[in-house]
Amino acid sequence: MNIYFLGNSFKYECEAVIKLFFPLERFGFFFDEDIAEEGDRIILSTVGKIAVSIECGELSASKESPLPENEDETEGALCRTLFLMLSEVTGCTPEWGCLTGIRPVKKINELTAQGLDRHQRFEYLKEMYFLTPKKFELCEMTADQQHTALETLDEKNSFSLYVSIPFCPSRCSYCSFVSHSITSRGAKELIGPYVKKLCEEIARTAQKAADMGLFCDTVYIGGGTPTAISAKHLDNIIKTLYNSFDLSKIREFTVEAGRPDTITEEKLAVIKENGATRISINPQTLSDEVLKNIGRIHTTEEFYKAFELARSMGFDNINTDTIAGLTGDTVEGFADTIEQLIGLSPESITVHTLTVKRSARLFASENRQGLAGTADVARMVDTAFTRLTESGYSPYYLYRQKNTVGNLENVGYCKKGKESLYNIYIMEERQNILQWAQVHPPSSSTLPQGR
Ligand code: SF4
Repeated sequence: MNIYFLGNSFKYECEAVIKLFFPLERFGFFFDEDIAEEGDRIILSTVGKIAVSIECGELSASKESPLPENEDETEGALCRTLFLMLSEVTGCTPEWGCLTGIRPVKKINELTAQGLDRHQRFEYLKEMYFLTPKKFELCEMTADQQHTALETLDEKNSFSLYVSIPFCPSRCSYCSFVSHSITSRGAKELIGPYVKKLCEEIARTAQKAADMGLFCDTVYIGGGTPTAISAKHLDNIIKTLYNSFDLSKIREFTVEAGRPDTITEEKLAVIKENGATRISINPQTLSDEVLKNIGRIHTTEEFYKAFELARSMGFDNINTDTIAGLTGDTVEGFADTIEQLIGLSPESITVHTLTVKRSARLFASENRQGLAGTADVARMVDTAFTRLTESGYSPYYLYRQKNTVGNLENVGYCKKGKESLYNIYIMEERQNILQWAQVHPPSSSTLPQGR
């Protein structure tokens, strides 16, 4: 589809709004150029007034609004007019409205800091972005849950560490990260050299942090799947962290064990003995059929065993990740996953919504068969919210990504007092994070789906 801009070049925000309605479409962009008479197109004009129109297959519509008096508000006004036109012509009203490219809870925290009360916050977000009451409520609950973590943060003098282990036992169909399947010989041979270089870099960076007088607040070892490497390598990395940094003040130490098929008593012992306070064991779904569909080579049984083993070894802060919308899953199936997890009573349960990025196997249209429709995925997410909040869990961090089914959200739920500090600080962009092996950019994608 071609997008024509007349009198403006607000490409970034307008593209984000258009993608809410045409998520997998490819676009061509033209600025103050002649408009081709043929072909799918959207025209976005700010010449004398705001005028938007669409011609796309059967869809045909247009909408106008006056230019705002303050020129700085033109982009927002154009996006709102575009959003309204696309909502009307497609019959689809995204629940997050045209709130894109903004961290929703961060915005709530900012509005609160500006002195707006709850009612004023809602009115503002409704008027500016068409945010629905349901999503506003989710943001408010999440912001409430973050208070202690944000109040106790020494923003200026502290930092967190993120260490990535970019290896996995197999590649999930939805994975868009740089992670190597250790089933390949090449990847297996990379592990040793990778660990060696990583440890060298850790030691070098620690000196810099010390020179700056900063102290380490939280540690997060993610991936990939950190437990995909041997207990010895894991031990080496963690001991290097301790030997390099002063970790005497850390308040949280997470190891994202991730895939249940990589978890052994020996590796859990290394994690525990080295002082980790929080681990993740991630089933994504508790349906063996869905696990097979997404290319994970473990079973639900292996998840239960890994969870039980961790509990028996004294891990008292365990997170479990799930994804709504996986291939072959249903609303009932996903609800069952949530019920079973609630039954296990982990300290936190993270509910992601499936995101299909270009680098994932799932992006190819022939691989997308069996994916649930947007309405069903929205029901999965709603069911999770209802059942988890009824069962003593509260949302405590939230983020959204491009290309997520239904433009929905990823939410971490936890029991009272079990909020992961690292997750809050990175999402709210409140603390410096030192990362190694930039397999993910330092953004919300460092909290990816499906470890
Ligand atoms: S989604 Fe996570 S577990 Fe799956 S291959 Fe990617 S990094 Fe590994």
